[in-house]
Amino acid sequence: MTARLVIMGPQGAGKGTQAARLAEHLAVPAISTGDIFRANIKGGTPLGELAQSYTARGELVPDSVTNDMVRDRLAQADAAEGFILDGYPRNAAQVAELDAILAGHEVALDAVVELTADRAELLERLRLRAQVEGREDDTEESIARRLDIYDEQTAPLTAAYAERGLLVRIDGIGEIDEVADRIAVALDDALAHRAV
Ligand code: ADP
Repeated sequence: MTARLVIMGPQGAGKGTQAARLAEHLAVPAISTGDIFRANIKGGTPLGELAQSYTARGELVPDSVTNDMVRDRLAQADAAEGFILDGYPRNAAQVAELDAILAGHEVALDAVVELTADRAELLERLRLRAQVEGREDDTEESIARRLDIYDEQTAPLTAAYAERGLLVRIDGIGEIDEVADRIAVALDDALAHRAV
């Protein structure tokens, strides 16, 4: 079964973890723009050099860079039957770009999963993650900046996807397995009833 999905939600909502679970459940690749940037930064590539100053501060990497990267990634063979996009789109221009990329492949999104969690829970999880993972952008300033950008630019995108009948909202509070089950049940239902 093909499945072309976006997973959205604020920093700390568990997107990456759940995207990986879902990728296994649906047998499609999880594509995280943040992971691609981090791999390039680590590898010292030109893309990594370009992205580093933005990611470290918690600012969005410019759309011109991010959009090209996603276009290239979605053109790879393993994404032909589906994908779970984690961390993209994050603003209205990226929504339009994703629509254009998919139209070029004569395909469309099947669903957009929004993981929700309240700010107190997010901050607690991010504090823990900072201790465990030691990510360069898990400083207090960068976390605050990323949450602000999420509220201002990314959260409003869910309304547009809801209008298209694509939005599946899932409570992100609970054990990882519990949340994974919630997503699987809701998505299996959404995918079974999608327009063909
Ligand atoms: P988080 O969700 O915790 O911010 P990510 O791994 O998704 O972490 O992203 C890390 C950083 O990578 C972001 O702060 C941003 O600088 C950059 N990035 C990731 N996705 C995008 C995107 N779609 N557009 C612009 N920048 C992005």
